Amino acid sequence: MATKVGGLVEACSTRMTKTGAWRTFVPVFDHGHCIVCSLCEIYCPEGCIHQVDSGDEETLKKYGYSPKQIEALPRFRRIFVPDLNYCKGCSVCANECPHMAITMVLEDK
Ligand code: SF4
Ligand code: SF4
Repeated sequence: MATKVGGLVEACSTRMTKTGAWRTFVPVFDHGHCIVCSLCEIYCPEGCIHQVDSGDEETLKKYGYSPKQIEALPRFRRIFVPDLNYCKGCSVCANECPHMAITMVLEDK
């Protein structure tokens, strides 16, 4: 998305700009510790946390997950995951999680 100097960015334009490439830290979810409260989904400023079926490989691949990462997920559960194409690593989700089920880790790129 091109933005002129001094110009304004259109509202709701985040979906046109993949923010994942900016990221230094990435949230890692401890699905066994998650109490499914949805607060991370609500507070994420990118709106990029979604609840998915852990067996839904097609959606997880679309969210930027590698086969190895998908393999490591718990089987047959609804889980919260960030869409890695849009997660900018801001830590809001980890700070808001009431059960400390999200840890920010340095991303290995
Ligand atoms: S780190 Fe920020 S952008 Fe990424 S999932 Fe958490 S709240 Fe959303
Ligand atoms: S805020 Fe924490 S406990 Fe709540 S759904 Fe997200 S990861 Fe799970």
